[in-house]
Amino acid sequence: MQIDINQKSLGTMLKKVAIIGAGPGGLAAAIALQNLGFDVQVYEKAQEFCPVGTGLGLTPNGLNCLEAIAPGIVTTLKSSGCSVGQTVLKSMNGETIRASSSTFLEQYGQPLLTVWWWRLQQILASRLPSDIIHLNHNCIGFEQDESGVKVYFENGNTIDANLLIGADGVNSAVRETLFAEGKPHYIGSMCWRAVIKYHHELFNSYDLAFIKGKQQFMYLLNVGEGYTSWIYRKFMPDYSLSASVEQVKVRILDELTDWDRSFRAIVEATPAKQIWEGPICDRPPLTSWSQGRVTLLGDAAHPMAPAMAQGANSTFEDVCELQACLSQASSLTEALTNYEQRRIERTSIIQARSAVGEMRYYDIETAKEKQERADLTNEHFSDWLYRYKVFADS
Ligand SMILES: Cc1cc2nc3c(=O)[nH]c(=O)nc-3n(C[C@H](O)[C@H](O)[C@H](O)COP(=O)(O)OP(=O)(O)OC[C@H]3O[C@@H](n4cnc5c(N)ncnc54)[C@H](O)[C@@H]3O)c2cc1C
Repeated sequence: MQIDINQKSLGTMLKKVAIIGAGPGGLAAAIALQNLGFDVQVYEKAQEFCPVGTGLGLTPNGLNCLEAIAPGIVTTLKSSGCSVGQTVLKSMNGETIRASSSTFLEQYGQPLLTVWWWRLQQILASRLPSDIIHLNHNCIGFEQDESGVKVYFENGNTIDANLLIGADGVNSAVRETLFAEGKPHYIGSMCWRAVIKYHHELFNSYDLAFIKGKQQFMYLLNVGEGYTSWIYRKFMPDYSLSASVEQVKVRILDELTDWDRSFRAIVEATPAKQIWEGPICDRPPLTSWSQGRVTLLGDAAHPMAPAMAQGANSTFEDVCELQACLSQASSLTEALTNYEQRRIERTSIIQARSAVGEMRYYDIETAKEKQERADLTNEHFSDWLYRYKVFADS
């Protein structure tokens, strides 16, 4: 479908923008598009905002994009999260293998900033009028024609918009309506995680600890304000989910039987109902993210394994590019075409590198993957990743 809206009327014709999902991507997009003067409404399936999600590492590319979208926000994030100083690699019996200082700030002008997903969501939401965020709106599909998009929700509501943005994560209903791909791809590794108020003894000296086990590992992140995010991961070609929340906790503690008690202690201190258990999934890259008046961003567009900590960071890059393309193009078709062209190649590379990086954790690598991993850590690649400049501004 070819949608031609000329430059003069782009702002007027796209007056109503509907964003599905109030995660980091959807909320950042709402701020960015409000800056352009669009009437933006965000629809979120959750009944309420609650303290969920994991600890995230925000890197210079993501932080610079966030700052461009919402000036001053990095200062707020720094006061909520943690600018990582010292990091440590430990064995499962607690021995220190290597300790080092983060060099992000010196190298790239921004720190590695760890923050709780929920706090990031709150900070982004606080930059928006609360009446544009509609909770309890689970999108179940849409239809579009030349004049607009009609979006359907499970609660029976329908809304009309001129532009629909799917920012609804790895199981995106918008993507499914566009491309009917079915379920995401299980990458072969399970995840258990929680964020709790907890002072780990490691944090007297370290902000980030990586503990390596046998085809399993744990991350402990200081995410600020006295909170610790723990993430336990295990290589598991076939996975099964526990029958109850109580069994989830028992299961992890069983897995950690041989681990030092300081690592078990944080799981023991976590209320069972706060532990999230699930498979890690990605999807193959798409060759197009848009059709007509509908496009995707963030995990909906390019879900990836967490190995490189780029899911949210690349999402903020998407938002910056979408904002630039909408502000500069003479038609919606041109804006969305430019947006895809600036994003798909880069995010496909990050998705592929993340999948390779993931297997490194479990010492399961082919020779080709070993080589790709070596490339991954080279300076040129890090520069490419962390010194990202929005195309239109560069
Ligand atoms: C263990 C782990 C560690 C990670 N670590 C990092 C890291 O260090 N750095 C990093 O950059 N990234 C990290 N990520 C990835 C990061 O969390 C995601 O990439 C990021 O949250 C994507 O943002 P998003 O807004 O696109 O999607 P999401 O965060 O998934 O948000 C989607 C939102 O849409 C809502 N939604 C879903 N379906 C519907 C629907 N049908 N209708 C309405 N609303 C809907 C959801 O409730 C949610 O609020 C990690 C992920 C995991 C699992």
